[in-house]
Amino acid sequence: MNGRTPLIAGNWKMHKMGSQAVEAANQLKRLIEKATDVEVMIAPTYTALYQVAQVLKDSTIALGAQNLYWEKQGAFTGEISSEMLVDAGCSHVIIGHSERRQFFGETDASVNLKIQAALAAGLIPVFCIGETEAQREAGETFSVLDKQVRDGLKGFSFEDLSGLVVAYEPVWAIGTGKTATREQAQKVHQFIRSLLETLFDKPFAGSVRILYGGSVKPDNVRALMEMPDVDGALVGGASLDPETFSKLVFFNL
Ligand code: PEP
Repeated sequence: MNGRTPLIAGNWKMHKMGSQAVEAANQLKRLIEKATDVEVMIAPTYTALYQVAQVLKDSTIALGAQNLYWEKQGAFTGEISSEMLVDAGCSHVIIGHSERRQFFGETDASVNLKIQAALAAGLIPVFCIGETEAQREAGETFSVLDKQVRDGLKGFSFEDLSGLVVAYEPVWAIGTGKTATREQAQKVHQFIRSLLETLFDKPFAGSVRILYGGSVKPDNVRALMEMPDVDGALVGGASLDPETFSKLVFFNL
């Protein structure tokens, strides 16, 4: 036993109107009522956060946001601060998702500032890293991840980072139906954990949950979760349907 409670997290991306998000959250709540020894988090779009928070109030499902801005308040049109996310009912926030890096110019430096802001507000950051297909083919997977982890976590102590969740999401596996094999995932997760040990210390590295993300589905989740350093999943497509997502939550049945 490694003492890490598995975390199954759903990233709803830019899907679902408020009423649909509420309906899905209610359904999920019923479907996973009996789940034990697993934590569950869902990240709806900003406009549905508050409504979904009301649904989740009497459940163990945690609420996450998909992004934040690092300033507390001010003239930053279109942005949302970590305090605002807490106010809306969030306990978690996804940071550095590859779609943010790819389409919205997010860098390791902005990811670092966002992690800092999340921690300062008491939010658990779900810190996303991952290589592109071209980087994997060029044999750069480990150097890319090394840089993302070092720069993303620069300036923090392990005390600051308590509760941190890392999500390894190979970009080539996101929304493509191509999943990393469980051996590929384990190799990378092991690398990330040993890097955390080098940067911080062994107990901290052993406590960090490292999720795998990239086309996780009911038919591959169990095999992935059997790997010693895979502590959960960050799920896009398969999180949208509560029935399907609940099968991921019950991965060990
Ligand atoms: C994601 O976007 O975080 C993700 C893993 O998506 P999908 O499960 O659809 O590949």
